[in-house]
Amino acid sequence: MKDSFGRDIYYLRMSVTNRCNLRCVYCMPEGCSDWGDKEGILSIDEIVEIVRAASVCGIKKIRLTGGEPLVRADIVEICRRVSETPGITELCLTTNGILLPKFVDELKTSGVTRLNISLDSLDPVTYKDITRNGTLEGALSGVYAALDRGFKAVKINAVLIGGVNDNEILSLLELTRKHNAHVRFIEMMPIGETADWAETRFVSVDKVKEIASELVEIGSEGVAQLYRLPDGLGTVGLISPISSHFCPTCNRIRVASDGKLKPCLHSPDEIDLRGLSGKALEDAIHLAIYDKPFKHKLDDGHVSESMRNMNEIGG
Ligand code: SAM
Ligand code: SF4
Repeated sequence: MKDSFGRDIYYLRMSVTNRCNLRCVYCMPEGCSDWGDKEGILSIDEIVEIVRAASVCGIKKIRLTGGEPLVRADIVEICRRVSETPGITELCLTTNGILLPKFVDELKTSGVTRLNISLDSLDPVTYKDITRNGTLEGALSGVYAALDRGFKAVKINAVLIGGVNDNEILSLLELTRKHNAHVRFIEMMPIGETADWAETRFVSVDKVKEIASELVEIGSEGVAQLYRLPDGLGTVGLISPISSHFCPTCNRIRVASDGKLKPCLHSPDEIDLRGLSGKALEDAIHLAIYDKPFKHKLDDGHVSESMRNMNEIGG
């Protein structure tokens, strides 16, 4: 359906948990308790009912995210039920990849069509520093498990962190030369308890264009400007929520792991969907889409007004 500014909103990102097996420096604060609040997260029936009601409001594409969606014991069943919801034509999942080798085949048969895997570094020490307790080997085994499984796309998300991984831009985009993988460089957003830290390490995606002179522009896909190495199998995407925000073409809403609908990632506005079902739930989602704010204020030098950490919202 269209919001009050005429944008077609057809994409819902659902955070199915705030829990995670990693602790990325730009996403979760260091002191974040080991497993987060398990009790507060949506049940599988609540997730499926929200997806059903959203599809009545014109949502066609779902992304399951977190936290780490694969730490949920019922994730395969969630995928199956969400993908079987009438009106849902695309089911995507974002993961850090560590648990993918275990789940990738079941995810595929349960209706997941696209996978995004986060991988910010190809250096084992830097990877461990960024994720606080992850192993590069584990993440790469997830990437390789996903490739050639017949997904419509496997994307690799790298958040640019000044002085930490911006010296790896060339090696990360090199992955697209031999593999049909799509590497996306994403500007780090100052949000939640890590906002001050993120602000001081911001790097614009323009740096990728400056360094990688070989890249050839091939157009755009959603919010990403697309490029390709001349002999590359995959594509390179630049996503710039800060330096060139894409609010005028925004097509999405989000639901946090506790059932709060966020019409805009960086707005403090939230609508509690918990306890609602049927027509009341459809009406609440319909109104939230219609009233979606026009733009965020990050490019005006503000940090996010979201008041949430990314692991609750899902990126
Ligand atoms: N755990 C999964 C993962 O890491 O892919 C899914 C959840 S994670 C919150 C989703 C995406 O948000 C990841 O690609 C992550 O890099 C990105 N992200 C988290 N915090 C961010 C921030 N402050 N700025 C930009 N991207 C961020
Ligand atoms: Fe976990 Fe993903 Fe956040 Fe990293 S970015 S801490 S993997 S939720």
